[in-house]
Amino acid sequence: MKRATKYIHAGSHPDPSTGAIMTPIYQTSTYVQDAPGVNKGYEYARSQNPTREALEEALAVIEEGKYGLAFGSGVAATDAIMKLLKPGDEVIAASDMYGGTYRLFSKIFSKFGIVFHYVDMGILQNIEERINNHTKLIWVETPTNPLMNIADIRGIASIAQKHGLIMCVDNTFASPALQNPLSLGADIVMHSATKYLGGHSDVIQGALVMNDKALRDELYFIQKSCGAVPGPMDCFLVLRGIKTLGIRMERHSQNGAAIAHFLRANPAVKKVYWPGFEDHPGHEIAKNQMKDFGGMISFELKLDTMEAARTLLSNTKLFSLAESLGGVESLINHPASMTHASIPRDERIKNGLSDTLIRLSVGIEDAEDLIADLDHAIQLTVTS
Ligand SMILES: *Cc1c(COP(=O)(O)O)cnc(C)c1O
Repeated sequence: MKRATKYIHAGSHPDPSTGAIMTPIYQTSTYVQDAPGVNKGYEYARSQNPTREALEEALAVIEEGKYGLAFGSGVAATDAIMKLLKPGDEVIAASDMYGGTYRLFSKIFSKFGIVFHYVDMGILQNIEERINNHTKLIWVETPTNPLMNIADIRGIASIAQKHGLIMCVDNTFASPALQNPLSLGADIVMHSATKYLGGHSDVIQGALVMNDKALRDELYFIQKSCGAVPGPMDCFLVLRGIKTLGIRMERHSQNGAAIAHFLRANPAVKKVYWPGFEDHPGHEIAKNQMKDFGGMISFELKLDTMEAARTLLSNTKLFSLAESLGGVESLINHPASMTHASIPRDERIKNGLSDTLIRLSVGIEDAEDLIADLDHAIQLTVTS
């Protein structure tokens, strides 16, 4: 089956009791049993829910994996992976990644004796150098949030395989429509389904996809034992979002390219972070492992002050000032004070995330309108 068809039909079967074409929202906590232990495969909704099962099947199909698991949020999905580990185990993670992942690792799991090493994953040797007998997992994010750095998924997967490590890729920024890490050798793909999978800024949810049955069983056991499951209404919303993922990502990518080029040509802009530029250090790898470059872009103004960044952020009309990304509407965000405020300033600056960096989640509006909006806000900023 071709991709466009998969997005529409993944996980969707007519409802057995009515024939409903859309998977119903099974808003129930429990299921009546015929006799103790005699049931229709459903006992209690933390363990099984038909709406969630339809979504989990769809997640596996679109991510080219065998098994999907849905969670109450992206960080809950990451949390489940960390619970595969035990005290003393070590993790190698990217020095530039989603702030909430860094917070979960450094503030929660390090308390339980898990050791994290943060490295620049653009250089494979940095990873290899950190591996010892305690290393269990490599955590990759590509493109990274918000600096749009690219990690070589195939290259890291071969290191992970050589050393018997689990490799997990946070594929939130690319979405399954642009990048499929399992096909490139990763063991687990993680998504914040809140973003492109849901696609409409109306749900918080997370997802994991994998091929290995034992790993799936272990993660399912964690999902039901720890209980961070999504509600059936949220599963329905993400199932619906997935149907348009393919065409949304095409448009996000087209608009993203148009805006990246506009920004680069604007004399008030110092630097644009977008892997579609040929001189982006990760461009060749991105071209190789991604189908397109998506709708996420970061940039800095020449006016290198917190105030200039703030002026710009307050003057866009179509780009709404908000955290999050991946919805149909365009958003603008200031990582230093918003999404990445949980990273200590020194750490942030050291990793290249300046006080004035601005991140865009380019939506699927008309590109001309979006460009006019940014152009106007930039002019107001440089003349104020
Ligand atoms: C938002 C996000 C997360 C966390 O997901 P939630 O659904 O907000 O819990 C993880 N990784 C990346 C790259 C994200 O953008």
